[in-house]
Amino acid sequence: MTTKKRSWAEPYKIKMVEPLRMTTREQRERALAEAGWNTFLLRSEDVYIDLLTDSGTNAMSDRQWAGLMVGDEAYAGSANYYHLEAAVQKYYGYKHLVPTHQGRGAENILSKCLIKPGDYVPGNMYFTTTRAHQELAGATFVDIIIDEAHDPGCEHPFKGNVDLAKLDALVTRVGAAKVPYVSLAATVNMAGGQPISMKNVRAVREYCEPKGIKVILDATRAIENAWFVKQREKGYADKSIAEILHEMCSLTDGATMSGKKDLLVNIGGFLALNDDDVFEEARNLVVLYEGLHTYGGLAGRDMEAMAIGIQEAVSEDHIRARIGQVEYVGEGLMKAGIPIVHPIGGHAIFLDAAAFLPHLPQTAFPAQTLAGELYLESGIRAMERGIVSAGRNKETGDHNYPKLELVRLTFPRRVYTQAHCDVTVESVIELFDRRHAIKGLKMNYEPKYLRFFQARFDRLA
Ligand SMILES: *Cc1c(COP(=O)(O)O)cnc(C)c1O
Repeated sequence: MTTKKRSWAEPYKIKMVEPLRMTTREQRERALAEAGWNTFLLRSEDVYIDLLTDSGTNAMSDRQWAGLMVGDEAYAGSANYYHLEAAVQKYYGYKHLVPTHQGRGAENILSKCLIKPGDYVPGNMYFTTTRAHQELAGATFVDIIIDEAHDPGCEHPFKGNVDLAKLDALVTRVGAAKVPYVSLAATVNMAGGQPISMKNVRAVREYCEPKGIKVILDATRAIENAWFVKQREKGYADKSIAEILHEMCSLTDGATMSGKKDLLVNIGGFLALNDDDVFEEARNLVVLYEGLHTYGGLAGRDMEAMAIGIQEAVSEDHIRARIGQVEYVGEGLMKAGIPIVHPIGGHAIFLDAAAFLPHLPQTAFPAQTLAGELYLESGIRAMERGIVSAGRNKETGDHNYPKLELVRLTFPRRVYTQAHCDVTVESVIELFDRRHAIKGLKMNYEPKYLRFFQARFDRLA
């Protein structure tokens, strides 16, 4: 059993180091001006601690690096494919594997296999690429997450849960024949890394099965979800992470996976399925979009690194430290009275920029401002999740005004130390102490699509 008081200390030691560049305030002023106050436009070499994303930014283990050396780069039937297949069958429990270059490759193939134009796909909040592929295949996405997920102060332990009444209302309205599957994410990124309970997944399964509606898991962060089930759900404290993961997958018909998150690699993903016929079709389609069904857009060595990553990702010590690190930063910020989204999620801390900079109107881009100021203060790179990310209303042309103005501090797995965490907390506190002097921004360049990636800003006088 884990004792709550004992530190989460990194369960690894460092064998190879990648030097970080320390910059001066003047250098950062210049870099941020060149980047138009957009952290996506900064050069990585100008960043000290990079908390932009946890996608593909993982540190691999010595075993994974050794795995790269046993890459079998055969066009067909690579040994590494079979290692990956065995690992997916053992830990996720699905019958069939289709490797893909990353998560969205799997989403594309799955959507093409299961969706007919005019269908509806309900999900517990959306993920950008998942929803985009569902819509490209002709479906309408319907959000069926519980209302608590939209409230940043609410302490519900499973804010990723499905509201079964919302699901039933949809199925009653459009008919089960128009709902090919429920798209279930564990844990829900867009809600702040919030988990779904096993009880809720089972209830969704029991609702869907008699109606012939499949349940497809977005398993990208299912191992992080298993940790929260173990901590928070009755009856799971003594189960292993591997057992919980396996049980959750057993309640679903298949999964799409981005290995760039849970699985401790820099690239890779897969589609896993139980149904023989859907698998036949997916295995056929992967040849068109990714590559032959025994490599799916990956080098043999990448499949090997992911197969080893699965075993490491379900280790209790790993996941305890992974989520412990995020919690450690969150608790440090909370102790200092910094406004953040509650409860602390699995992969990131979300600063509440609206509460941090209450003197800025939403049109002065508080979260964008805060992300820029944090970089100036410390060289730490974070990401805006607010009005810039929300884009414009297609009809009126005005901004969408999201309820939340957030700055996401996302933690790459096994990359940074507790001292980096301390510097992060200290930097945010210093910024908080001088928050009243912070001025907002005005946008001076706005791209047409996904503007947050490339928009540019000037500081208001
Ligand atoms: C990252 C992510 C995806 C997409 O995976 P990519 O590997 O980036 O293509 C899908 N779902 C979730 C929940 C994710 O976090």
